[in-house]
Amino acid sequence: MTTETTRSAADEHEFVDAVEAWAEKELRPVARKYDLADEYPHEIVEQMKELGLFGATIGEAYGGLGLSAWTYAQIVIKVASVWMAPSGIFNSHLIMAAAIERNGTDAQKAAYLPRMASGEYRGSIGLTEPNAGSDLQAIRTVARRDGEHYVVNGSKTWITNSMHGHGTLLLVKTDPQAEPRHKGMSLLIADKGPGFNVVGKLKKMGYRAIDTCELTFEDYRVPVGQLLGGVEGKGFVQTAGGLELGRINVGARGAGIAEGAFKHALRYAQERDAFGKPIWQHQAIQLKLADMATQVEGAKLLLQQAATKYDRGERCDLEAAMAKLAGSEAGAECAQQAMRIFGGYSYSVEYEIERYYRDAMLMCIGEGTNEILRQVIAKQLVDRHRI
Ligand SMILES: Cc1cc2nc3c(=O)[nH]c(=O)nc-3n(C[C@H](O)[C@H](O)[C@H](O)COP(=O)(O)OP(=O)(O)OC[C@H]3O[C@@H](n4cnc5c(N)ncnc54)[C@H](O)[C@@H]3O)c2cc1C
Repeated sequence: MTTETTRSAADEHEFVDAVEAWAEKELRPVARKYDLADEYPHEIVEQMKELGLFGATIGEAYGGLGLSAWTYAQIVIKVASVWMAPSGIFNSHLIMAAAIERNGTDAQKAAYLPRMASGEYRGSIGLTEPNAGSDLQAIRTVARRDGEHYVVNGSKTWITNSMHGHGTLLLVKTDPQAEPRHKGMSLLIADKGPGFNVVGKLKKMGYRAIDTCELTFEDYRVPVGQLLGGVEGKGFVQTAGGLELGRINVGARGAGIAEGAFKHALRYAQERDAFGKPIWQHQAIQLKLADMATQVEGAKLLLQQAATKYDRGERCDLEAAMAKLAGSEAGAECAQQAMRIFGGYSYSVEYEIERYYRDAMLMCIGEGTNEILRQVIAKQLVDRHRI
């Protein structure tokens, strides 16, 4: 899918700068407070609405900013380099919006996209279940047709934005006996209502302050008009259709963590003395700084490559997978190296570096684990270079 945009490159650049300035001024001073208290940052959500972040990639026809994927990735990098968690509030929301914009009926687009662009309606992605994450075709949540409604029963877990959001894009089985299994899967635009239960917020090592919850559905009734695209059996394909943009987004969050951790480490290495000189002058620290900076820049270039192809409407499954892998591994590696550079102080919650370390691993798990992604990359390489 190409993101239609009428904005000039200069406008988009200005927007990235504005987000960076906001993140430095408003986000940085409160990040540690919210993270340590594991408290939802309502004031930040209001500011993100003002900035237009909830409509960043939604088309201008629906009141969004219609930004290109590369501009969006740069925004995500800027936010995540200060504090990754808030990027998840608009990221999952925009994945739901993109699915509606790409696959929804005209009525669904008109009903949801303008409210999503303003942030009045904030969404989430309801795919994972206690027994099924990577293997989504194994989900057990069933939607049974009953007249003009579906009746949904089942459970979901790890659903980000589901406590403070207004609804979720819910992956269900409309035909549990279908073979192949994916042909029996559908996506429902599921607004909160009777039978849609948010069981509770999960306690997490990182990505804190943001609501990630377990959900149960007990005879939850959804009007048939909420079936995404109006045709049953397309849910798995519709989910897979969002993976390229989703992977660029998660890669950008990883690259942002990597850049943020690197910048903290670069500063600390010049402030901290050991054996009569700043620690950056010890070769062991220089090697780390050099490797970190190289990983950050490499991840950003892979993201730019994938996003630019996406914006041109070209196939970029391989490039998006590589960008997600490189960005998330850069985040995990740079956060760990920064911990080593900070020495004992890395363990203190007085410094921010421990938060980057706690936040980083998630990027290696979400939007396709890096194990699965390596398999995807290898298969695509053979596919493109078959002898
Ligand atoms: C903080 C957080 C937020 C999340 N937010 C959301 C959300 O908003 N919405 C949502 O739907 N989900 C969300 N998730 C769920 C996330 O997408 C899943 O955790 C992820 O897809 C992995 O699934 P799993 O945890 O079931 O692991 P599993 O699929 O059980 O995998 C376990 C291990 O086995 C490996 N593995 C599995 N299959 C294969 C294979 N075929 N080949 C090689 N290795 C394999 C995996 O790589 C992994 O190492 C979130 C998770 C977390 C932790």
